Amino acid sequence: MNNFFNFISRHRYDIFFGFILILLISFAVYIFPKDITKNIINTLENKTFDIRQNITAKDKSVSKDIIIITVDDPSYEYLIEKYGDWPIPRHVYGELVEYIQAQKPKFVAFDLIFVKSLNRIPGSDKKLVDTFKKYDNLYTGINFDDFDKEVRTPPILDSKLSSNVKINSNKVNILTFTNCRLIHPNIIDATDKIGHINSPKSDDGYIRTLPLIINYKKDENSPDEYYLYMTLKIAIDYINKYENENIKDIEIDKNNNLVIGKRKLPLTNQGEVILNWYGDTGLEDKTTFKYISFWEVLKSIEAKKQGKPEKIAKDLFKDKIVYIGTNVFSLSDIKTVPTSKYLPGVEIHATLLNNILDKNLIHKASLKYNILITVLLGLLGALTVYRIRSVFVSIAFYTLLNAAYLYFATFVMSKYHVWIWIIIPITVSMFIFICTFIIKYLIKSRDFEYTYKLATTDGLTELYNHRFFQEQIRLKIKEADKTKSNFSLIIIDIDFFKKFNDKYGHQAGDAVLKNVAKTLKSCVRSEDMVCRYGGEEMTIILSKTNKETAINIAQKICSTVAEKKYQLTPELEVNVTISLGVSSYPTNGKTPQTLIEYADKCLYQAKENGRNRVGFIEE
Ligand code: GH3
Ligand code: MG
Ligand code: MG
Repeated sequence: MNNFFNFISRHRYDIFFGFILILLISFAVYIFPKDITKNIINTLENKTFDIRQNITAKDKSVSKDIIIITVDDPSYEYLIEKYGDWPIPRHVYGELVEYIQAQKPKFVAFDLIFVKSLNRIPGSDKKLVDTFKKYDNLYTGINFDDFDKEVRTPPILDSKLSSNVKINSNKVNILTFTNCRLIHPNIIDATDKIGHINSPKSDDGYIRTLPLIINYKKDENSPDEYYLYMTLKIAIDYINKYENENIKDIEIDKNNNLVIGKRKLPLTNQGEVILNWYGDTGLEDKTTFKYISFWEVLKSIEAKKQGKPEKIAKDLFKDKIVYIGTNVFSLSDIKTVPTSKYLPGVEIHATLLNNILDKNLIHKASLKYNILITVLLGLLGALTVYRIRSVFVSIAFYTLLNAAYLYFATFVMSKYHVWIWIIIPITVSMFIFICTFIIKYLIKSRDFEYTYKLATTDGLTELYNHRFFQEQIRLKIKEADKTKSNFSLIIIDIDFFKKFNDKYGHQAGDAVLKNVAKTLKSCVRSEDMVCRYGGEEMTIILSKTNKETAINIAQKICSTVAEKKYQLTPELEVNVTISLGVSSYPTNGKTPQTLIEYADKCLYQAKENGRNRVGFIEE
């Protein structure tokens, strides 16, 4: 922990700027048009939902109590052949209901809308209406829309069809429609088991959610009238009858749950439930719920009339919930859902009922939890970079961490039916991971630079140190050999420096030494290296410089130093002189030692000849 705080305090500027960088990028994301960001995130999040649904769908089993009778392609052909046109006369459905009811099913529901009669066959409609009068476990649908009032006058619906819904949530936004396609008035007279069957698609054409309650508001001034989804009505009747409850009124509680008896159905802010899909669904015989073709049932009805053996089992519908719907492309009741591109619309009802009865509707985790998860995953990303030294190990570990999160998100959906975010936590965590990486390597490179400087320079003069000088002169020899070029060396010694120290003190000596070093640096190019050889002796390596040029440079340095005045105190101005010796590679020596010796001899000559000069030896 101490280490951690040391680290933090040593690098507080890096960390501070790192945070500023993160804030700036977050701000950039923040000011980016919100609806675009939201759209992208929603689309991606929906896709991750679909993937999770596909992964977990196969493990969920459907209720064996639900049976779907479907007008599939063969049934459609059979019916067209027999009755000439679609829709078929209503008495066919009436006979169908009578046949099913004889087997004592729990419920029978049409995912069909029986609009005003065509009356092609007299008495045909009446047959169906009579079954609605006779059985109180028979349901049918109605559809709301927003048609223009001039095209169709919004009908007034019998009040028995609407339900009391107490709305105690201020977040929920109930879907509202202004018009409705009226169904056969005699059916409305016959029963109140009529619910809406609107299943609006989301922006990408998928159905993931269902509005269980619709507000039918003919115009702004008309009162709110709430209509329940047909299958919600069935579910409530099922619970009342088979779970001994007595649900009458419906409430949406403060937490956006639709409360029906002991059950709480989680609603989105749009007032919809999110369906939890089952198994392989759709066409190609990969259906989940038990399906039976409409034509097979009709054949059995005929056979029964004629006293012949029936095609289907005699107790197929006993105690079952029977849905009747179409599954034909030409009748356009094929839906796209996360688990299938071609789902018979009627299966949406079956799925909803199954979800309500099994209490496995999906609910979205609250914002609070999603943010907590995002922060946690972000912190883990940062910690991975901080704790693990190796780049590869930290990337591998981080990838595993994300994979584990994906697994966790899928597990939570499968086991607890909870939809937690994937896109935002992983994006944020990746962003933090990359930022931490950048900050870590910036700090590392700066640490390295600092240590390198410590190892190669002299603390007082900030010139390169003796070791570095020795290393460089060896390298220069190699380089010169390789490129067939030359270089020169100047050795410098301050004159009478001992006396200077004695006179003005060591501190003043230090200051002057520092300033001489500065002057030397200012006299040469950046590729030349000025080093402190030891004490008050300094060396300069002049890259790619011949003897003549080197001597000229040495002379210039000598006079520059001599002219320079140093202000020791406001009253005291001093100056120092230097003596110099020059040697060149390869003429004056082929090894570092011989080169230094030669320059040193020249320096000695300079001292001998009176100092403050460049020295030469007679050859
Ligand atoms: P010469 O002209 O013959 O070179 O005379 P000098 O006094 O400079 O020669 P010498 O080599 O005898 O003395 C070098 C002096 O430089 C000794 C020491 O006091 C001083 N010196 C060496 N390193 C430092 C330093 O880092 N700071 C200070 N203030 N003085 C230093
Ligand atoms: Mg000396
Ligand atoms: Mg000296």
